[in-house]
Amino acid sequence: MRILVISDIHANHSALEAVLEAAGRFDAVWCLGDLVGYGPDPNQVINTVRSLPNLICLLGNHDAAVINRIDLTAFNYDARLSLKWMIDTITPDNLNYLTTLPETAIIEDVLLAHGSPRNPIWEYILDIYTAQNIFNQFTEKIFLVGHSHIPLAFFHNPIDKNIFVRPLIAGDNVLIYHRHIFNPGSVGQPRDFDPRAAYAIYYPESGRWESYRVEYDYKNVQERILKAGLPEHHAIRLSQGV
Ligand code: ZN
Repeated sequence: MRILVISDIHANHSALEAVLEAAGRFDAVWCLGDLVGYGPDPNQVINTVRSLPNLICLLGNHDAAVINRIDLTAFNYDARLSLKWMIDTITPDNLNYLTTLPETAIIEDVLLAHGSPRNPIWEYILDIYTAQNIFNQFTEKIFLVGHSHIPLAFFHNPIDKNIFVRPLIAGDNVLIYHRHIFNPGSVGQPRDFDPRAAYAIYYPESGRWESYRVEYDYKNVQERILKAGLPEHHAIRLSQGV
């Protein structure tokens, strides 16, 4: 079984299309939240994600904001402008779809959330100290998380209890022996200085995680962000991967 793991598409349909084409055949899709915010294509992204086979899709902080579960004052100025545009642009049917998304999901020995088990919408896991704490908050073997837009793997060594972190680059193939936290990175707004769309394939039977990147036409997305009147910063960062 091949499970496509994606996160933080952020209304970038060009990046999503490139990922779906590059990923080849897959049996299920796990999407870790933030379908909207930043990009110019919120409805196209929601429509495409809704049509994916055997989909589990979680709520992210930007999704929660457009359905009024988080106050917009929690976001910075540019993100607020973008979220207001999303609220005006997303169709009632798609807004309603966002209200149905769960904050966490458990599939066999895998826990899924956008942020963390204790704070599924907001908390970032970027360092081993936070990760150490997080490993005590779930009992499953694997925790899949998005939110930071940075592909990462944390490993918990059961013998010496040490935590290790490893940035994941394209082509990385991780054999899952111990407990892990994986972040597939962001489809629509990468922040690890690599502008290519990030995704991962998880193989539950053989216990493997593969990280991938795919190029897409970010210049076209930048033009459409500016044409829509969305913040310029959200266009510029797509070419820098920050
Ligand atoms: Zn995000």
